This record gives sequence, C-alpha cells and structure tokens, in this order.
Amino acid sequence: MYQSLDFSHERDLNIDDLCRRLESYYPDADFTMLRKAYSFAEKAHTGQKRSSGEDYIIHPINVAGTLIKLKLDMDSIVAGLLHDVVEDCGILPEEIEKEFSKNIAQIVVGLTKISKIKFKTKEESQAENFRKMVVAMAKDLRVIIVKLADRMHNMRTLQYVNEEKQKKIAKETLDIYVPLASRLGINSVKAELEDLCLRFLHPDIYYRLAEKVTMKKSERDTYIKDVIEHIQEKLLEYSLKADVKGRPKHFYSIYKKMIARGVDFEQIQDVLAFRLNVSNITECYKALGIIHSSMTPIPGRFKDYIAIPKVNNYQSLHTTVIGPKANRIEIQIRTHDMDEVAETGVAAHWKYKEGMASGEARLDWVQELLEFNQNVENNNEFMAAIKSDLDVGGVFVFTPTGDVRELRYGATPLDFAYAVHTEVGNKCVGAKINGKIVPLKYTLKSGDTVEIMTSKTQTPSKDWLAIVRSSRAKSKIKQHLLKIERDENKELGREVLEKAFRVFGTSLKSVIKSGEFAKACVEFSVSNEDDMYIQVGSGRYSPKDVIQAIPSLKKEEDSDSKIDELDTYTKKVTSTARKKSNKDNAVIVDGMDDLMVRMARCCNPIPGDGIVGYITRGRGITVHTAVCDRIDAGDIGRNIDVDWNTEFSFKHPVNIRVITHDKPGILSSISKSITSIVNIRSALAKSLPDRKGSFIFEIEVKDYSELLKVTGMIEAHEEVISVTRV
Ligand code: MN
Repeated sequence: MYQSLDFSHERDLNIDDLCRRLESYYPDADFTMLRKAYSFAEKAHTGQKRSSGEDYIIHPINVAGTLIKLKLDMDSIVAGLLHDVVEDCGILPEEIEKEFSKNIAQIVVGLTKISKIKFKTKEESQAENFRKMVVAMAKDLRVIIVKLADRMHNMRTLQYVNEEKQKKIAKETLDIYVPLASRLGINSVKAELEDLCLRFLHPDIYYRLAEKVTMKKSERDTYIKDVIEHIQEKLLEYSLKADVKGRPKHFYSIYKKMIARGVDFEQIQDVLAFRLNVSNITECYKALGIIHSSMTPIPGRFKDYIAIPKVNNYQSLHTTVIGPKANRIEIQIRTHDMDEVAETGVAAHWKYKEGMASGEARLDWVQELLEFNQNVENNNEFMAAIKSDLDVGGVFVFTPTGDVRELRYGATPLDFAYAVHTEVGNKCVGAKINGKIVPLKYTLKSGDTVEIMTSKTQTPSKDWLAIVRSSRAKSKIKQHLLKIERDENKELGREVLEKAFRVFGTSLKSVIKSGEFAKACVEFSVSNEDDMYIQVGSGRYSPKDVIQAIPSLKKEEDSDSKIDELDTYTKKVTSTARKKSNKDNAVIVDGMDDLMVRMARCCNPIPGDGIVGYITRGRGITVHTAVCDRIDAGDIGRNIDVDWNTEFSFKHPVNIRVITHDKPGILSSISKSITSIVNIRSALAKSLPDRKGSFIFEIEVKDYSELLKVTGMIEAHEEVISVTRV
C-alpha cells in the first residue's frame, strides 16, 4: 500500500549509478562483473531502440536498478542486465554461461521462455493456469522476480506504445504479474503495478483519482503532518520511539474500495494511511494500545497479522481510527523487520547479507524456503501455502489456438487428445509438439504447444492404456475397447448360433419367429436377442446350452456330435478364452496355465528385471530376480523359465535406500521428487555418523524403467550420496 520504493523510469540512469547504489548495501560486490555485464548488454543491444526512442540499454539498466532497490543478489542483477540478450540479440545461453555463470545463464533462459508464451486473457481459470505455468517453468524463483522487474519497467514506459498494446499488456499484468507479486509478498512491486494497470486500463478513473488525491495537496500535507505529530506526542508520553509516516493510499486500493462499496471517491473517507515502525513485537501492541486510547477505533477494522501472518508471510497490525477533524485514517503498526518483508517479500531471501562470501553458491529456492521455515517460528502456514501454490503437480500446455490446459505430470499427447474431446482421443493417430511430429508416448513439458492429428479410420487399441496417464483417458479407452469387444462378441454369438440351428435343419430367423428364442432368453435372464448373442460370443453360455432350452428342435443321428464340435470351437474363440491365457498373472510360466505364481519378497522383482521361476513345494512358483542370492545354484532342476506378461499392469512394491548429507528439509524434498512420479508406501529415516542420513522408501512402480526414473530424480539432489535398491 505504501510506495516507499520508487521504481519510476529513470532516463539518465547509468552503470555508475548502479554501482554506487549497489555499494551502499553490498560494499564488497563484484563490480567488475557488473560492469562487464553492462558492456556485454550494451554491445548486444547496439542500434536497438525502445518505443520511446531511447537506446534499448536504458531498459535493462532500469530493470537492474529495480533489482538493486529490492536488494537482490549479484546473479539476479546481472541477469537483469542481460535479460533480453538471448531473445532480442540472438546471443546463445552457452555464451552467457561461459562469460558469466551457469546460474545467470539459467535465469536468463527462464526469462526467455516466459516471454515466448503467448497469453490470451479469456477467463479466470486461464489466468490461474498461466500463473501456475510461469511458476512451473521458472525453477529458480529469481526468474520470476527479475521478470517482475522487467514487467515493471515496461509498464512504466507503456505510454510509448499504441493503445491496443497498452490495454493488452496492462490486462496481462493485472491477471498474471500482480497476483504473482502479491503471492510472493513483494508488496512494493504489487502496488506500483496495480496503479500502472489502472492508469492504462481505466485512464478516466485513474486521472480523476489522481486529480482528487493531489487536489488540496497542501491542505492534506498539513493534515498528515498534524496526525504524525499527534501520534508521536502520544507515543512519547509512554517513551515509545517509532518511525511514523503518512500518505494517501495507492490509487488502485482506493479504486477497489469504490468498486467494493459501490460509492464515489468523495464517499471514501479513509484515503490516508499511516505506518508506525517500531523495534519489537511488544512495542507493536503497546503502540496499538496508545493509538486506540487516543483516537476512537472503528469496530471490526482491527486485524492482527502479527499473531496470524498472511500466507505470503506478511505481518502487521492494522486498524482504522477516527483521526483529527473526524477523518477516518488507517494505521499499520509493525517492526522494522516486518516492514522489510512486507516491502520485498520473497525477494528478501536473496538479499545480500553481511559477511556472506560473494559468489557463494545459492541453494535451490525451495530448499532455501524450507530452511527459512525452520529458522522462523509460526511459518508453517506460509510454507504450506507457498509450497502448494508454487509447487504445481501438473504440466501446462497449449492448444494450437493458445488455450492453456493443465495435465498430470508425465501426461502424453494421448492424454491431451482425450482432454480436448473423447472423439479426438479415439481418432488420434499422432501429435505435433511445437510443430514437430513426436511419438504418442512423448512426455509433455510445460510450455509445449500440442497439435493432435486424427484419422477417421482410427480406433483405440489396448496398447494405449500403457501410454496414457490420466484416469479420464484410461476410462474412455476402456469404454471403447469394451464396446468393440461387445460388438465382436455379438457377431460371434450370432454366427455360432446360426450354425447350431442349421445342424437341426432350421435357422436362427425361424427360431426367433416362432417365439422360442425369446423364451430361451427369459430362461437365461437375458434381456434380448442381442444380449443372448453377446453371452454366447463371450463364452458365458455355449451353443449347446441354448439348444437345450429350445425343445422343439428335431434331433438327428449325428446332431449331438456336431453340437459338441461347435461347442469346442466356440470355447476356443470366445473372448473369455482370449482373455484367460495371460491376464491374471504378472508373469507367464513357460507352457503352463493356472499355476500359482508369487513374487519373492527377498528381491521384489519388477517388470524389466531378468527373472527366474523357482518351483516351491506346495506353493507353486516363486519368481526371483536372476541375480537374487536366494536361488540355489545347485538346485537347478527346480528352476523354470518365466517371462513378464506385457499385458498385465500392476504396481510392484520395491525398496530403495537413499544416503544423503544431513540437511534440514532434505527428506521432504526427496519425497516430493518421488511422489511426482509414484506412490510412497512407507518411509524410514535414520541419522548416520558424519552428519549423514539414511532413508528407506517403499515405493510402488510399474516396471524397471519407472524405477530408473525415480532414482534419477533422487540422484539429481545435490545432497544425495547414493541411491540403491534393497
Ligand atoms: Mn525486457
């Protein structure tokens, strides 16, 4: 609400100013690197102009200036200077990595990715999806902070572009970047962006407000001075020291109040806001008591965000009181530290801290937040919220027309096709990702544009069940397969019944005509002819069963043997027979049916492992991995060849042991990696000497390649020493 940081476009800002400002809070910063980044950017942007007619370099300089005001670290500031060189000057990320660092290159690449997203403001959920996608794509949260600084300067110079573009960019800013800034608690940026959005989206309202707020400015300034003096005096009586500031609220918050209450500016009384900064929490409540005893508080307007912080970690006391001359004034009371958090939010985490070695490796932001959580009490809610909000489980992809769809992690083009429409799914023959043809089992990534190719003659196949991840797609495919099976069974049932009746010198048609077929249906509790065919085609009833239910059929000498023959044939071809062969076991045992098969507990084989069967006394066959110690090499006669059944899909339990350096939050970040792919059944944690930790996870995997994917994800954590299957 306060705009104590001023981000206005500075047309004369230069690299010397940046260095000077940086030095004020970061005296041992690497100024050579900063100047190098500046020269690099200036050279790259040579000849390019902003819409304002200024040299392009003024834009990155202002972006870096904002980042310095937020007191961000060197990586962010350098990335701010370089943020447009990949997109606008064709510089390769590798070059940035070579000249500067990998981290800086990654931030710039993240920014470039976000800028490529074409966004259509269509509906609320679309904006929400987009916001999540931005977060999903920006693994390093600093990408978003630099992006906000970039957007801030573009908004600050928006008057130089045409009106259509102004509206589009302002709308996008309000839909996407304002909520992001708010969520990250960077209130100074949020307030500034909101006012700029109002200025370009509703210029009439903005300028009317600006006029009214600045009108009687000297009168208002005097009033503010009086209130500050009054407050200081009262505090002094209790020997309490505080910084007290006052100013009109930012326009957008006044505008929101006008909308919410359906009133005009004149009726909004509380346009002035005051802030008291004190040394500690006790003083906050003390100051509140003093305020409330000297000015009448408005009931229902007091809020204690110190006891219950907002989810973005904002802490403050809010109250509204009747000030001098019966004016309503809003007062915020908080400590200096809380004020810092309120202004810069999550950016405070990358703030330069005294004594920190420059260039010190930064942790993954989630890790940093996790540690932050452990140092500060009362932050559970903040953490839970920021994690659930920022850690999106899905991938966000575009339709060719620019709509955003959220899909499950690991989703494939087929999932996408079924998400669009069942018929698009059923007729899907292929997909193009960002214009290139990919296999149907391609794993979608956030930001992909997906185009589905269809064919009228296509129908879903059983293999598709192994490709899709979403339950919607799975059930649609199964539905279709069932329907196909039903049609096939109907066809087959009719065919064998026709043959059966011919044996008796009659036809299906005449048996139906005589009404006897309908009677048979009733006897079998089957609702109609079609269903009867299906029952016969599926093998539930045999042709013989049906024949026996029709007494009028005249038997001939060889009719019994002919019917038996037909029965045998039917048994072989019906769908029950088709299914039985290899549906119920994960493993196919060489040449044998109906054997009891179980997986050995000692080695927990999963599809993809080399396996052997081992005949156990009275317990059928136990399946071990080929390398399992328990298989007795001397007892070779009891081994039997087995193979994985590719038609069988089942989750297999498997144990993995992870040894890591002991670090706060490591368990939760590893768990997060695992659950992004598979379920965890149980987890066991143990501390080892030398500040190491051991975790055993029991997880459920489909096959070996899925296990590899999981272990790969775990190994990607820097702290992890080893991952083994146990
Ligand atoms: Mn830019």
